[in-house]
Amino acid sequence: MLLKTNYWRQQAMELSEQLVQMRRHIHKYPELGYREVETARYLTDLLREEGIEVLEKVGGTGLVATIIGAAPGRTIALRADLDALPIHEKTGKPYASCISGISHACGHDAHSAMLAGTAILLQRHRRRIAGTVKCIFQPAEECPPLGGVRPMIEDGVLDNPQVDAIYGLHVTADLPVGMIGIASGQAMAASDRVEIKIVGSGGHGSAPQQAVDAVLVAAHTVVALQSIVSRNTSPHQAAVLGVGVLKAGYRYNVIADTALLDCTVRTLDIHTRQLMQDRIEQIVEGITKAMGARYEMRYVAGYPPAANCQEQVNQVVQASEATLGSESVTWFERPSLTGEDFAHFLEHIPGAFFWLGSRLSDGRKQHPVHHPGFDVDEDVLPVGVAIYCRLIEQELFR
Ligand SMILES: [Zn+2]
Ligand SMILES: [Zn+2]
Repeated sequence: MLLKTNYWRQQAMELSEQLVQMRRHIHKYPELGYREVETARYLTDLLREEGIEVLEKVGGTGLVATIIGAAPGRTIALRADLDALPIHEKTGKPYASCISGISHACGHDAHSAMLAGTAILLQRHRRRIAGTVKCIFQPAEECPPLGGVRPMIEDGVLDNPQVDAIYGLHVTADLPVGMIGIASGQAMAASDRVEIKIVGSGGHGSAPQQAVDAVLVAAHTVVALQSIVSRNTSPHQAAVLGVGVLKAGYRYNVIADTALLDCTVRTLDIHTRQLMQDRIEQIVEGITKAMGARYEMRYVAGYPPAANCQEQVNQVVQASEATLGSESVTWFERPSLTGEDFAHFLEHIPGAFFWLGSRLSDGRKQHPVHHPGFDVDEDVLPVGVAIYCRLIEQELFR
């Protein structure tokens, strides 16, 4: 029988102070991907103090906290990410980052604190659990193309016992605290990078006939690349091609010999992903050839597209409605074009990823993730814990 609907809200609320403490500690001492040594140590100590089994150094700096139920059963995984970003924090908060140039501008501090809180509560309820809960704290979510999930999978995080399903969440300023957002089916995009080097031939600005102007070739290339999304991909299928960096030239009266383009490509299915890659190369090849230049191109496949599984989506919706009320779920009709390392888990096992409303409610200006002023409303912490605990109750409680 399921527990009373407000049970986990109450349990999580009682943990509020500790959740805030954990979140602020992690926030104050942020670490970049693959270097989350102190964050991992802090969480390990804290979880072990609760009697939780913690496996360290999984896939580098990753951690797995395992709650072993009193009876055998299935294994469900919950996931948080540990890493911060190379962004100098400007929230002005007393718990702001102590490390110059690095901050938790994506809310991974909140994710880690919520998962630690969940592990603590589930450990206290382990007698009622039939099965195992693996709380996975992954490194380097912000570090495509490798990320932190792949090294953890290679290190066996999904085996022994084998994980049957996985859930992940991300805070979002698009929703207030107490709301979640979820998409059924396609949830997040493949996020790839293309580096293009155009090689012309330099010369004196007064004698263009003796040179091949890399700036002009690059300019034509940037414009022509935009025709892929407008003319080659289906209007019904989302795709993004953005040139984020264009570098060329030395001086106003010197013809540039090379130009560099660094681009992001976002797609939602493998067919469009391949089409984008092929068309980019054809366009770059054609334009450089026509204008007498050469090119070098490197297409770096980042995180794959992520699709939620219906069964796990239903579980998340049920958990959210039980803990936050029947109006708490916002259906995201369209997938997000952001990329997420969680997608690597979904290539192996069923699961669902959802968005947890964390918009500030104290009158401060809300900045988006990856902004130096980004912050979460800390009331989100017990909300995330309650949903995670309820999910495990639905899946594994006897
Ligand atoms: Zn991020
Ligand atoms: Zn993030």
